Amino acid sequence: MDPEALALDAANPLAAFRSCFLRPEPDLVYVDGNSLGRLPLDAVARIRRAVEHEWGERLIRSWNEGWIDAPRRVGDRIGELIGAGPGQVVVADSTSVNLHRLAEAAMVALAPEGRCDLVTDDLNFPSDRYVLQGLAKRFGGQLVVVPTDGVHGDLEATVAAMGPRTAVVSLSLVAYRSGYRADDARINAAARAAGAMSLWDLSHAAGAVEVDLDRAGADLAVGCTYKYLCGGPGAPAYLYVSARLQERLVSPIQGWFGQHRPFDFDPEYRPAEGIDRFLVGTPPILSLLGMEPGVELVARAGMAAIRARSVALSEYFVSRAEAELVPLGFRVDSPRMVVRRGSHVLLGHPQARGLVEALVRESGIIPDFRAPDGLRVGIHPLDTTAVELARVVDELVRLTRETAWTRHRPQGRVT
Ligand SMILES: *Cc1c(COP(=O)(O)O)cnc(C)c1O
Repeated sequence: MDPEALALDAANPLAAFRSCFLRPEPDLVYVDGNSLGRLPLDAVARIRRAVEHEWGERLIRSWNEGWIDAPRRVGDRIGELIGAGPGQVVVADSTSVNLHRLAEAAMVALAPEGRCDLVTDDLNFPSDRYVLQGLAKRFGGQLVVVPTDGVHGDLEATVAAMGPRTAVVSLSLVAYRSGYRADDARINAAARAAGAMSLWDLSHAAGAVEVDLDRAGADLAVGCTYKYLCGGPGAPAYLYVSARLQERLVSPIQGWFGQHRPFDFDPEYRPAEGIDRFLVGTPPILSLLGMEPGVELVARAGMAAIRARSVALSEYFVSRAEAELVPLGFRVDSPRMVVRRGSHVLLGHPQARGLVEALVRESGIIPDFRAPDGLRVGIHPLDTTAVELARVVDELVRLTRETAWTRHRPQGRVT
């Protein structure tokens, strides 16, 4: 084994966190925690208690014994991980729904100024682009998609795309394919100068990189909890509205959980004060409570230590990929500069699909395939080890030399 990998793992201050996750296959190398994070052991106990005790025994009394406050309580906890002061983050619905809700709220607020356009870039996640396309159409505006080289965001072009008709500038803080980390402070400043609002998708950033929404001057943000935050499949997402804007924006869906006093059953809608006004209906309590232990794990480890570990691991992986995989026909399709990189690395190879099949079936390694030719290696700072990343490189060298893709017929989508 590579002594550098062994040394990196021996010096890992977060090593104990590895045992906080269920690990039924100890030899499985799981480099897909950025798509679906591992199951925290605490989540098993928490979900059991929520079902058996809170639902089964306490029944409706549980609403007053912690359930009703859960979206804000967990929201504030997530806020600590993304640099949002209390009262600005709430847990609700899915990322796509939250993105739509906040983008629409911003458009409604800015349409009277003649602002009906939105700006994004071609690194952004497809679901985000669909949502923004739909809103542009409905408001009679345009979605400006800034072209990039496919790896790095283009800061200058993004700023130049903002104008007097721009309502919303919506980007992924960390791009789902290349892992490019946007310069959020500069985008926020430019959006503000242009009279538009910024709207960040933190799905691949929260729990992976240090995020400081308040200090960077963000307006709005959304993100999912089942990636680095290990909240579980379909766990509810969260949304952030800067305290500066909460009174100005109104949720486009006026549901009772966003009402001033939902349990007065008032016939007229009056928005709640603060972040609550962006809630809609009854929160998915079981998956919300089951997600909290993952958030707690990340909070306990601390974002500074998590980021340091992520940097050490991704630097190790990228330098070995450059030295050993690039000569075999791979590309490193992630930023080389670590400040511009999240916690996953995209390798390009014409046979990426077959190589991912071979890794899964022959090597006990689960990465992600991203069409058309991307092999994505997710580095979860509380789980992934340098020794595992060394195995990924070693196996890719072996499989490529053996043209292993000829042994595997692709079977649909590979993850
Ligand atoms: C994973 C991810 C999503 C997921 O959206 P859902 O509505 O929760 O399915 C959205 N945006 C980005 C950037 C993502 O990485």
